[in-house]
Amino acid sequence: MAECIFCKIANGELDSEILHSDDSAVAFNDINPQAPHHVLVIPREHIASVADVSRDDESLVGHLCGVAARLAEQLGFAEDGYRLVVNCGAHGGQAVDHLHVHLLGGRQLTWPPG
Ligand code: 5GP
Ligand code: ZN
Repeated sequence: MAECIFCKIANGELDSEILHSDDSAVAFNDINPQAPHHVLVIPREHIASVADVSRDDESLVGHLCGVAARLAEQLGFAEDGYRLVVNCGAHGGQAVDHLHVHLLGGRQLTWPPG
């Protein structure tokens, strides 16, 4: 997707603070962090949202969660706990139409979300 900012981050066209990169996923710091640690984990492949995940992509979504959990360990806040969030569509508050898992940690998070 030529105009997708997360595709551009994944292929290096746009700068970001990359924390993890492999054949199928990239993780980078959110530009507008909502917690002391706020990382986005995305597939390299352009998938618009979780609503567009095919059966063949389901293991890829599991991989995104695994990458997030390992980053929480590496960044040192796994023991205190953290949250993974996937926003979908307008009511979900999705602003960027490239599937991403938010990894939020480093403070007490509240529930329910706004
Ligand atoms: P959404 O609301 O779609 O679930 O989350 C999109 C996230 O992407 C937001 O938290 C926003 O701060 C982040 N974001 C938007 N543009 C950029 C960017 O160019 N670079 C980075 N690192 N994060 C971005
Ligand atoms: Zn994309």
